[in-house]
Amino acid sequence: MNKNYKVTVVMYHYVRDLNNSRFPNIKGLDLSLFIEQLNYLQKYYYIISMEHLISAIDNNDSLPYNSVLLTFDDAYIDHFTNVFPILFNRKIQGSFYVPASNIMDNLVLDVNKIHFILASVIDMKQLIRRTFKELNKYRNDYNLSSNEYYFEKLAIPSRMDNKEVVFFKRLLQKELPETLRRIITDNLFREFVDINESTFSKELYMTKEQITCMVKNGMHIGNHGFEHVWLDTLSEDKQKEEIAKGCNFLKEMGVDMNNWTMSYPYGAYDQSLINILKDKGCKLAFTANVEIADLNKNNRFELPRLDTNDLPKSSK
Ligand SMILES: [Zn+2]
Repeated sequence: MNKNYKVTVVMYHYVRDLNNSRFPNIKGLDLSLFIEQLNYLQKYYYIISMEHLISAIDNNDSLPYNSVLLTFDDAYIDHFTNVFPILFNRKIQGSFYVPASNIMDNLVLDVNKIHFILASVIDMKQLIRRTFKELNKYRNDYNLSSNEYYFEKLAIPSRMDNKEVVFFKRLLQKELPETLRRIITDNLFREFVDINESTFSKELYMTKEQITCMVKNGMHIGNHGFEHVWLDTLSEDKQKEEIAKGCNFLKEMGVDMNNWTMSYPYGAYDQSLINILKDKGCKLAFTANVEIADLNKNNRFELPRLDTNDLPKSSK
């Protein structure tokens, strides 16, 4: 019989009852559709645990046909309140990737501020005009290019977002100098979302106690960096620090450090980072490359994933 070395790794972010949430426009998966998708996966796939995947890679073993592994990034409260009870009741393991700094220091990640600005804005054109105004304000101090230059360079529609949204995300996630990205994001967050950061952090993310509870109940918790930055843009020393702080957090949460794993924030990594992961005994790492993982083809530190939106959301 032919052996199978493929596994579909599904990536989830927000999973919530969108219509009854404070931000119905957040780009997330509605809870009812998550349940439908889980029904679908249980019907047509075999849901494996992280331990199963690690052992298959370590021993070069084959996997059950139609293997699937569920991953959840960014430590949203949704994962504890909505996802965990469902998985627990169905005896399914989920793998949850936690950027530690937001939970330890009650901060809101810039990437999330950007999501909630977008979810709070009614007129996207107004947000773009407002963003241009910010660029005008800081143009001289930061030696910025023209608004048109940035728009032309960055406003390219993606699989998930229209061109205005892509422009806004890319500008504030990567294009501008880091300090300025932070300043503009904070300005717009204050204006459009208008919630105290530490209060919002508690509304948005799981607590340490909730994470420990999931570990005790068989869920897999992994490293998602410390500050959720583009790790491929850091020096080797900074990369080491990010990984070590992430690992310290996992230890504190009671994670089995013989089987620790990684999900790269923004899917960004380089060879120096992979070497660090090897040194620290990391078992495997997930990118955001959109493919079904093939253990014969993909390096264990470059496993691709599908987005939940790439899979059906109905079991019929
Ligand atoms: Zn993330």
